[in-house]
Amino acid sequence: MRKTLEEVIQTWEPVIGLEIHTEITATRTKMFCGCQIAHGGEPNTRVCPVCLGMPGALPVPNEAAIEWTVLAGLATDCEIERVSQFHRKNYFYPDMPKNYQISQYDRPFCKDGHLTIEVDKEGLAQRLDRDLQAESYETRIGITRIHLEEDTGKMVHVGGSEGRIAGATHSLVDYNRAGTPLMELVSEPDIRTPEEARRFVQKLRLIWLTLGISDGNLENGSMRVDANISLRPRGATELGTRAEVKNMNSFKALHDAVAYEITRQAEVLEEGGRVVQETRHWDAGRKVTSSLRSKEEANDYRYFPEPDMVPFEFSEEFIAGVAARLPELPDARRRRFMSDYGLPASDATILTSDLELCAYYEAAAIGLDAELAKPLANLIVNDLVGALNTRSEELSESQVSPQAAAELVTLCDEGAISGKQAKEVFAEMVETGADPAAIIERKGLKQVSDSAELAGIIDGILAANPDKVEGYRAGKTGLMGFFVGQVMRQTGGQANPQVVNELLGERLGGERLGA
Ligand code: ADP
Ligand code: MG
Ligand code: ZN
Repeated sequence: MRKTLEEVIQTWEPVIGLEIHTEITATRTKMFCGCQIAHGGEPNTRVCPVCLGMPGALPVPNEAAIEWTVLAGLATDCEIERVSQFHRKNYFYPDMPKNYQISQYDRPFCKDGHLTIEVDKEGLAQRLDRDLQAESYETRIGITRIHLEEDTGKMVHVGGSEGRIAGATHSLVDYNRAGTPLMELVSEPDIRTPEEARRFVQKLRLIWLTLGISDGNLENGSMRVDANISLRPRGATELGTRAEVKNMNSFKALHDAVAYEITRQAEVLEEGGRVVQETRHWDAGRKVTSSLRSKEEANDYRYFPEPDMVPFEFSEEFIAGVAARLPELPDARRRRFMSDYGLPASDATILTSDLELCAYYEAAAIGLDAELAKPLANLIVNDLVGALNTRSEELSESQVSPQAAAELVTLCDEGAISGKQAKEVFAEMVETGADPAAIIERKGLKQVSDSAELAGIIDGILAANPDKVEGYRAGKTGLMGFFVGQVMRQTGGQANPQVVNELLGERLGGERLGA
């Protein structure tokens, strides 16, 4: 029996480094020509002599793509290189018509950055050296570099399984994607668990979305993650031999592929074998990785400086100009949600980890009393997100406007309806998109909070039950429930329980019950 991840980490320490490719979908044209970037479309319709590698065609760099890459570097605390350069990476495979890819080698645009990620309680179990009593932990992942290159074309292997070459009768090639600006971020081997790998990519994606660089879609491949994984005996400092795993099209696939590869390598090593340095393919259906090809070494690529482009020299003004475009980043936004709205870390994390949810909350919170920021967060994080999940709806499809959510929280706070009634009203808001006030009116749900009206009812009840009043005063405090029940019956359940408790407490002279 293969060991589980929890068993493996008793003896082995997993070491993980990620290479993350992101298409810069914010620019409309390719990296070195004016062809349009688009997913889909008739094959080989968005091509020209430059991206088809015709002899004599010359590359003209896409300035916006370079600026986006510098912005990405600034957002991840990288140093921006003052002098950088493109190189040719030579290889012979028909996904690039030139037989080389223009990429960067020893002079990338950005290097030496880092990202701090937060891992929650569930992720703690994957690390041996963390305090399991903690609620979460933070860990800092180094970023080796961010460079820019051109994307390759797409190969379609016909007749094989899952589009793979094995078993295919022939292959088709589509160069529409060839030349798309592609930003590659390489992490240091600082990641230790599948959950940390997932968190790192999630956070990075959120940053890219916040900057507006890319739509960061793992499913359609506008963001692609390769995971380098090795094991070493616990306590060792030297790195073990790694395998690189590709083809993870979702965050779950990334997590599961890394976890699988860790347990696979442990088995190989414990049976006395050696991990082969190779590229492996994640098969989401069978939930296994399998060998794809042996790994190329950098010197196989015969990198040399791109002779058709001079090196780039960035002025301080250029870098400052890009830096001026930096928006509020996810970490800063999360801190602001905690300080300005007084939200607990958990709510702030949930609200700021999704841009739409974040904008929704801020739109609802405008003009709302400060003390309602927390109940509003509860409504959105629990009820709204819960409703979206059960209905398999996106936030943008929801009929509940931010204003209506804020109104519901206000009505509840003013005592117009009880918390329980608010749930009922919200359920209908989700169904019909109606205004909370209108729903309350139509359902006759209003809550009786008027003290004078309730006092009259309560006095009547006490007068009609002198023995119970006596009993309560003699110490049978459990009778409070009887009195509250009577009030609820006479008001059709619409009495504000807080006001009822207050009034009963005053009259009976006992302890006030909590609402
Ligand atoms: P290549 O370009 O050949 O893929 P790099 O040396 O640039 O190789 O490393 C790529 C990624 O692999 C980086 O994220 C790095 O952190 C990671 N990495 C390198 N060595 C190891 C190792 N022994 N175990 C796990 N990850 C590693
Ligand atoms: Mg690699
Ligand atoms: Zn072109």
